Amino acid sequence: MLLSIVIPVLNEAQTVPLLLAGLHDALRGATWEAIFVDDGSTDETASILERAAFEDHRVKLLRFSRNFGPQAAVTAGLDFANGDAVVVMDADLQDPPELLPRMVELFEQGYDIVSPQRTSREGETRFKRWTALLFYRMLSRVANQRLAPDVGDFRLFSRRAVLAMRTLREQHRYMRGMAGWLGLKEAMLPFERKARAAGSSHYPLLKMLRLAWTGVSSFSAFPLRVSMAVGCLLSGAGFMYFLWVLYLALWTSETVPGWASIVALQCVFSGMILLALGAIGDYVARTYEETKSRPLYVVTELYNLPLPSKSLTRAVVLEGRGLQGEITEDNSDCTGLRAEELPLYDRLAGVR
Ligand code: UDP
Ligand code: MG
Repeated sequence: MLLSIVIPVLNEAQTVPLLLAGLHDALRGATWEAIFVDDGSTDETASILERAAFEDHRVKLLRFSRNFGPQAAVTAGLDFANGDAVVVMDADLQDPPELLPRMVELFEQGYDIVSPQRTSREGETRFKRWTALLFYRMLSRVANQRLAPDVGDFRLFSRRAVLAMRTLREQHRYMRGMAGWLGLKEAMLPFERKARAAGSSHYPLLKMLRLAWTGVSSFSAFPLRVSMAVGCLLSGAGFMYFLWVLYLALWTSETVPGWASIVALQCVFSGMILLALGAIGDYVARTYEETKSRPLYVVTELYNLPLPSKSLTRAVVLEGRGLQGEITEDNSDCTGLRAEELPLYDRLAGVR
């Protein structure tokens, strides 16, 4: 079994050697490859990795032309990983390599995704801990998603989970949400998250907020649809108030001339404008969801059914579980795989 480890790195010259040593220790006796994705480092990270790759063929390196962000780096790593299982981890040893054997064990028990869950967050400020807690709570409510709290991008994916992840090619990426969206069999593995081995976090508050917003906006159109709900409420309340104003104007003499008509117009139109905005928001939301062109569903097991024919688009059918009929045609179209990935894909047929 080949284990691939995908590691995004940005200016991690201090931590990379420590991580490599950690990997060598933890994976003694295993077959592995480490795919480093250099996300535009400006220090010696790249030269350290080049040397490591030269000395050990298991160390692989992808270099980006500039900084594209860790989500893009992880995506590239997953695209190039060949392993039967693929782990994504940070370079700073906050995701401990010692956990890898246990993760592989769970993978071998049949889990498609193994998610280490942080039970403690050493070296993180109280502010970061509280905001993280609040964010995960809010996201799971708003996005109505199977999002495990306190799970970062540190994860193990089975080969077929990686193939499924590769079909999600949206621009604004929130990998944890995407992994949850697939709905594959997932194991949780509690662990204590340590402080960074060296250096400082590349995730200042503003970047954290941006990622959080990507998390909300790519899994829910809730914010776009808010004005629809508010518009309904305001229209209702406005109409009641309108009736009251009408009563005051027609049956009492308490109103100043002109006041009633202004208030009435205000009540009715504000509500209607918000409603219209909500409706437009809903169309925008639908267009947005459509433009992501995500697959419509993910099939994980087939019993006595052949793999689908080419005509199936925007669908993911994963091989490897269930009782399969003869593989009649390749289903490269429906998984969105590129031709050069097919040999790997074929190799998977019948595994497990
Ligand atoms: N990273 C990256 N590109 C970036 C920022 C970070 O590849 O633009 C890498 C970084 O080198 C590390 C991982 O992503 O391996 C996680 O980053 P960091 O430890 O700074 O984030 P934190 O753990 O504080 O959330
Ligand atoms: Mg870190």
